[in-house]
Amino acid sequence: MKVRVRFAPSPTGPLHIGGVRTALYNYLFARQNGGQMILRIEDTDQTRYVPGAEQYIIEALDWLGIKFDEGVHLGGPFGPYRQSDRKPMYRQYAEQLIADGWAYYAFDRPEALEAKRKEFEARKVTFQYDCTTRDTMDNSLVCGLDEAKRRIAEGEAYVVRFKFPADTDITVHDLIRGDVTMNSNLLDDKVLFKSDGMPTYHLANIVDDHTMQITHVIRGEEWLPSAPLHVMLYRAFGWADTMPQFAHLPLLLKPEGNGKLSKRDGDRLGFPVFPLEWHDPKSGEVSSGYREQGYLPQAVVNMLALLGWNPGNDKELMTMDELVQLFNIEHISKNGAKFNLDKAKWFQHEYFQQLPDEQVAEMLAKQVEAHACEVDQQYVLRVAAMMKERITFPSELWDTCSYFFKAPTEYDPAAVKKRWKPGMTTHMAKVIEILNTVPFEYDALHKALLDDYITANGLNMGQVMNSLRLAVVGRTVGPDMLTLVVMLGKDEVERRVQRAIDVIGEVEA
Ligand code: GLU
Repeated sequence: MKVRVRFAPSPTGPLHIGGVRTALYNYLFARQNGGQMILRIEDTDQTRYVPGAEQYIIEALDWLGIKFDEGVHLGGPFGPYRQSDRKPMYRQYAEQLIADGWAYYAFDRPEALEAKRKEFEARKVTFQYDCTTRDTMDNSLVCGLDEAKRRIAEGEAYVVRFKFPADTDITVHDLIRGDVTMNSNLLDDKVLFKSDGMPTYHLANIVDDHTMQITHVIRGEEWLPSAPLHVMLYRAFGWADTMPQFAHLPLLLKPEGNGKLSKRDGDRLGFPVFPLEWHDPKSGEVSSGYREQGYLPQAVVNMLALLGWNPGNDKELMTMDELVQLFNIEHISKNGAKFNLDKAKWFQHEYFQQLPDEQVAEMLAKQVEAHACEVDQQYVLRVAAMMKERITFPSELWDTCSYFFKAPTEYDPAAVKKRWKPGMTTHMAKVIEILNTVPFEYDALHKALLDDYITANGLNMGQVMNSLRLAVVGRTVGPDMLTLVVMLGKDEVERRVQRAIDVIGEVEA
C-alpha cells in the first residue's frame, strides 16, 4: 500500500500556523514512507471563499519547503484538485446514499427549522435534526421518495441529509488517541448535499479522500467530532475496507495555555500567527507574517515540528531531512502544545548562525546602501562574519553594525554619566597621540594603550576603554575594542575620538 496523504485547506483566509503544522506533519509522514502528498482545495462553502487565499496557501508552503506531488497547482492523475472544479461528480454519490437508505431529502425551510428550534428552546432542550425528530420534519422519510422526487422535479429546494442509525456506537480508531467512541444518538443528521448542486464539506471530503486513494488523514483536532460521521460514510458507501487511518493533531495553544492560539494573541504579544504577511482583501487589514519579520523558513519548520511532537529524546535542532527521518506518529502528543515566542526566536537565532557569512553580508550590504553609506564588499563581509552571532533577525543588522559604517552622532547619556569621568578628555587626547605614534596594528596598540598607558599609570581600565568605546560607537556595546579600532582605521578613529572630546567635553568632579 502506497502512503498517500493530503492537506486539504479551505481558502477562507490566510493559513494559520496551526494549519502549517498540519501540512508539515503530513509532508514528513509522506516523505518518510516514500509516499505522496496532495494539496486539495476544499472550497465547497462559497460564502466563506476569500480571493487570494489559495495562492497564499501555495506560496506559504512553498516558502517553507513543504512540497507536494499532486495538487491544485501541479495537477496529477487524480485531479481536479479543487472541489468546486469537481462539483459535477458529487451528486451521484449523494443519490447512491439515498438509494441505499443512508440518506434522505429534506425540504424544511430555514423558517421552519428556526420555529422548531424555538419550540424546543421553550422546553429547555436543544433541537437536533436526528433519529428522534426526523419523523416530525418535512423530508422524504415522511412524504415518501416518489413524492420527494416529484417536488424536486418541480423545482423545490432541498438538502440531502445523512441518516444516522439510532443508538449505535461508532468507534473511530485514531493513531494518536486510540479508540474514540461516540453514540449516534448524539449526532445530528448532517447535510451532505444542497440543491444548488454543491456538496458540503463532509460529503466532498469523504468522496475525495476515497477517489484520491488517501491512506492517512492527518488533520487538526477540531475535526475529531466529525470523524464518526466520516467513518459512517465510508461504511455507507461500502468503502470501509479502504478507509484511511485517522490522526487528529493536538491544538496549538496560547502561550499561557488556556485556549487555541489566535491572531489576537499574536497581536497582543507581538508575534505573527501567519506564515506570510496577509492583506485582507475586504477590510484592507494587514496581518504580519513570519517571512516578512525575517524568520528563516527552516527555523519556522523546526519550531512547528516540535509543537506537538518530539523525536523521543531532547534533540531540538533538526533540518527538514532529519525531521523526515525521525518523524513518527507515536510521538505526537495528545495534549495541546503551547506556543512559545522565546523558543521561536531561539530557533531563529540558531538558524541565522548557520547562514553563510556571504549571505549575511549581502543582507547587510543592502541596509548599508539604504543608509547611504559606501559598500566595500570585503569590509562588509568582515563585519557580517564578526557580528552575526549577535543577530537574530536580519532587520537588526543595521542597528547592530551601523557604527562600522557611520560615526555616532549621539552618545548614550547613561554611559556618559557612568564612564566619562573628570580627566577623560586628557585620556582621550592621549589615545589620539598613541594612535599617531605607534604602528597601527593590534598588538602594538594593545601594548601602548592598555599596558604602557592605562595599566602603567594605574588608570581605571574599564573607564578609559569604555569611554573610548563611547566615542567610537556612541554606546557601550560592540566587539573587542581594539579589533574595532583596527578595522575602522586610524583617521576615522581619530576623528571620532576628537569629536567626542569636543562634544562631551570635560566634566566636573
Ligand atoms: N477543509 C478542512 C479544513 O479546512 C479539511 C479538514 C480535513 O483535513 O479533513 O481544515
